[in-house]
Amino acid sequence: MTYDPSNIFAKILAGDIPAHKVFEDDSALVMMDIFPQSRGHTLVIPKAASRNLLDADPAVLSAVMPLVQRVARAAKAATGADGVRVAQFNEAPAGQTVFHLHFHVIPVFDGVALGTHGGGQADNAELATLAQAIAAAL
Ligand code: AMP
Repeated sequence: MTYDPSNIFAKILAGDIPAHKVFEDDSALVMMDIFPQSRGHTLVIPKAASRNLLDADPAVLSAVMPLVQRVARAAKAATGADGVRVAQFNEAPAGQTVFHLHFHVIPVFDGVALGTHGGGQADNAELATLAQAIAAAL
């Protein structure tokens, strides 16, 4: 499988589609998932083009994991979550819907079931507030 540069995250990385950005540097973008599985569901997206984990450059993976850790800590702190799930899907049968490598950081709250993957769209104002709060905790 090859990388398709017309995927929606490539368009967000290019600035063609808006996003609730939490953090950005030369190598990665962190943004809110607009169909969140929980309050504070965040995506960490390396900028380097790869479809998923299977074709990614190991150097990109090494560089991004400390950022995944920072975002997991920040999302937990900013939302008051009790735990954090980190998820990553490879190819459609495994649940991947956007074919540019990304890591899900999903705050988990005691007694609150996670929403379905790719469920309802979140309120824009709430996403903007969460993006600010997680950015402040980074
Ligand atoms: P995956 O199924 O692992 O490929 O995850 C793709 C994720 O991207 C899903 O959780 C979607 O809710 C999320 N998503 C899709 N389009 C957008 C978008 N425009 N902005 C933010 N998140 C998105």
